[in-house]
Amino acid sequence: MPELPEVETIRRYLVPRLVGRRITAVRFGTGHVKTEPGPSAFRRLLYGARVRGIGRCGKYLAVRLDKGRELIVHLGMSGRILLARQEDAEKSLARHERARLDLSGGLVLSFFDPRRFGRLWVKDGVARQPEACGIGRLGIEPLESDYTAEYLGNRLKGRNTPVKNLLLDQRIACGAGNIYSDEALFAARIRPTRTGASLNRAETASLASALRRVLKDGIRWCGTTMKDGGYVLPDGRTGSFQDRLRVYGRAGRRCLRPRCRGLIERVRLGGRSSHYCPLCQN
Ligand SMILES: [Zn+2]
Repeated sequence: MPELPEVETIRRYLVPRLVGRRITAVRFGTGHVKTEPGPSAFRRLLYGARVRGIGRCGKYLAVRLDKGRELIVHLGMSGRILLARQEDAEKSLARHERARLDLSGGLVLSFFDPRRFGRLWVKDGVARQPEACGIGRLGIEPLESDYTAEYLGNRLKGRNTPVKNLLLDQRIACGAGNIYSDEALFAARIRPTRTGASLNRAETASLASALRRVLKDGIRWCGTTMKDGGYVLPDGRTGSFQDRLRVYGRAGRRCLRPRCRGLIERVRLGGRSSHYCPLCQN
């Protein structure tokens, strides 16, 4: 699932190529795409709008349009955004291509989503439903200056939930998913199964800075493309942070921490796989 670094990589790619262009057509492919409002109102709100800027909130991409409108995209499990030149795009929409925006200057922005967990919203000027897409309920981002050891400590305090699940809780801090949470816990030498309440101050501080560091590294290396994964940059290139993962996806293999002889284990937590080293993560 695309996490903060992947969505930020997509955002940085799109900004210089999309800002200033006008949406000249909106088409939907076969198969259901979840839009809010429904397809015809969605199309009407986007048609003719000019892209003013592109922001991001956690894992949500927010394309600012004129007339105070905003197109919000959540890629779900397997969503992909691809940008192509009109002449290179097929006339009809491809398999799994759920929506396509034609843009002035001969560009085509496509939303692919094989597993259909992604969603698209258009928020109208006065924001009829500001909370509708869930952004209103997000916690702060680990990359913001408010995300301190003290903030994280306060949110973990008294929680008997595994710390891994608390890192995935987007109301506490938004942007990290399964991959970057596992990497941060490894870097901080904390087991994913520990409860939030069991972390001392030093561990909390170490976790807060580890999470910030792995997210920044993820951005620097243009995100993580796993073998089964849907994430690619809008021009089809893969990210390269998968070559730098230290624990995620390495179950049964030797721990990469120098001088540690542990073998990486995998446990199920909250329906997701967590990876950790039983020797150097306590
Ligand atoms: Zn180890």
